[in-house]
Amino acid sequence: MTQKKAGQNKKQRHKERMAAKKKKQQIRMMMIGSFVVIILAFGAAALYYANSGADSDSDKLSEQSDGQAQPKKFDFPYNKQPVFGDKDASVKIVEFGDYKCPACQAFNQQVFPLIRNDFIDSGKAAFYFMNYSTIPGSLDAALAAEAIFHQGNDMYWKYHEAIYDNQGDESEDWATPEFLAKFVKENVPKVDIEQLKKNIEEQTYLEQIKSDKQKGVEAGVQGTPTIFVNGEKVARADYASIKEAIQKVTKKNES
Ligand code: CA
Repeated sequence: MTQKKAGQNKKQRHKERMAAKKKKQQIRMMMIGSFVVIILAFGAAALYYANSGADSDSDKLSEQSDGQAQPKKFDFPYNKQPVFGDKDASVKIVEFGDYKCPACQAFNQQVFPLIRNDFIDSGKAAFYFMNYSTIPGSLDAALAAEAIFHQGNDMYWKYHEAIYDNQGDESEDWATPEFLAKFVKENVPKVDIEQLKKNIEEQTYLEQIKSDKQKGVEAGVQGTPTIFVNGEKVARADYASIKEAIQKVTKKNES
C-alpha cells in the first residue's frame, strides 16, 4: 500500500465516521422532535377536554368526577305551562300526557294524588302538564285544555281532573267540540264557554300543542304518560320511581 493510498483510506474512514455521527444526531433530533409533538398533542387534548367539560351545558351528556355518565337533562318552557303547586319550588315535575290515554288516567288517579300529598302540598315540588297528543280524536281535548289554561290556571286544573275522571273509550271519538263545551259548562262553570268554543273551533292554541309535543320529541318521549323531574326523564311513571327521582334532585340541591 502506498502512503498516498493509506492517507486516502484514512480520509474515507473519517468521512464515514462523520456521516454516521451526523446520522445519529439526525435520528436523535427526530426522536426529540417526535417526543415534543406527542407531548404537545397530549397537552392540547387535555386542555380541550378540560375546556369542553367546563362549558358543557345541562342539555348535553356530562361526566362528573365520579366518572359516571349523567343522564340528559332538558329545560322545558315551564312558565308557559299550567302549574299545580308552587311554581318557585325547586323540584319541577313535568307530565307529558294525552287526555284520551288510559294510562294517563290511571296515573292521574293513582300516582298523582300520592305525589301531591308527599311533595306538592308541602311546597317541595311543582307539577306541570304538557300535551303529547297522539291518540286519534284527542286534539280537541288538548285545544280545550290550552284554551282554559289561558282563561286561568286554576280553571285548567279543574278541567284536567274532570276530563281524566270522565275519560271515554280510547277507540271512540268522544272528545268532540260539542261534548267538550257541554262538559266544561257542567264541570268548570267559571270558564267563558263562548270563548272556549271559539278557541276550539279556530284552533287558537294549536301552536302551543305542537310546541309541547316537539319538546317531548326532543326530550325522548315515546309514549304517555312520561314524567320528567327537573328535566331528567323518569324511567317509569310510577310513584316509587318518581319519588326516587325527587329525592335524588333534592339531595343534589342540599349538597
Ligand atoms: Ca302546553
